[in-house]
Amino acid sequence: MLEVQSVSKSFDGFRAVDDVSFAVPAGAIVGLIGPNGAGKTTTFNLIAGTLQPTAGAIRLGGRAIEHEPAHRRVAAGLARTFQIPKPFGEMSVLENVLVAARAQPGERMLANLFARASVRRQEQANIARAREIVAFVDLAKVERLPAKALSGGQRKLLELARVLMAEPRLILLDEPAAGVNPALLEIIMARIEAINRTGITFLIIEHNMDLVARLCGEVIVMAEGRVLGRGAPEVMARDPRVVDAYLGG
Ligand code: ADP
Repeated sequence: MLEVQSVSKSFDGFRAVDDVSFAVPAGAIVGLIGPNGAGKTTTFNLIAGTLQPTAGAIRLGGRAIEHEPAHRRVAAGLARTFQIPKPFGEMSVLENVLVAARAQPGERMLANLFARASVRRQEQANIARAREIVAFVDLAKVERLPAKALSGGQRKLLELARVLMAEPRLILLDEPAAGVNPALLEIIMARIEAINRTGITFLIIEHNMDLVARLCGEVIVMAEGRVLGRGAPEVMARDPRVVDAYLGG
């Protein structure tokens, strides 16, 4: 699904990501872990297209995307969340999900007077889908509330809903467990599992090892801009190089 090949990113000569290569197979949930400053977020930004690599290739479903702008990567099936979600605070939960739809009615069709019925149909279809997704992430009860009224954990669920609305093949999750209470964390983990069962692939940056151990078949460990190793979470957690990286980092 995703191939990152010899990718590097320098900031003023400092190699935040240094010749990183890994692949994420279709249907997998892979963790991207490592101490602070390891280069995980920079790697996400390179995959999502908010940063351009200094060198290397990135492929999504076999297609080179490293020179594509971020919105084209979304259209190709890539979606990401942020460690600190920033929903449109004044807009309702449902509206926040609705605006994440890939097919926005009327963008092209409005030019044609006779297309109005078709615009309305697309709008109705999007609303129905947004409601389904909001219910799926357990936010139906608060769908009319402004997003700013949500708790930190609920905002994480809203982020998940927004990425689902874009109909992705690959979801990059940035610390889905950060700042989430245990009850909501359980819901978030169960929803990630359910989404994955529909065939959607995940790459997850996470420090919460309970989440990693439960969800991730494999983890890629980064430190100082490089990939240290890759394997089952319980094996990597005991790997002396990984232990050193966390202690030294
Ligand atoms: P992680 O997500 O693993 O904590 P980051 O990818 O955020 O690591 O950062 C990796 C390194 O790159 C850090 O040393 C960080 O200070 C540096 N870095 C990240 N973004 C920038 C930037 N825009 N300009 C300069 N240095 C950066």
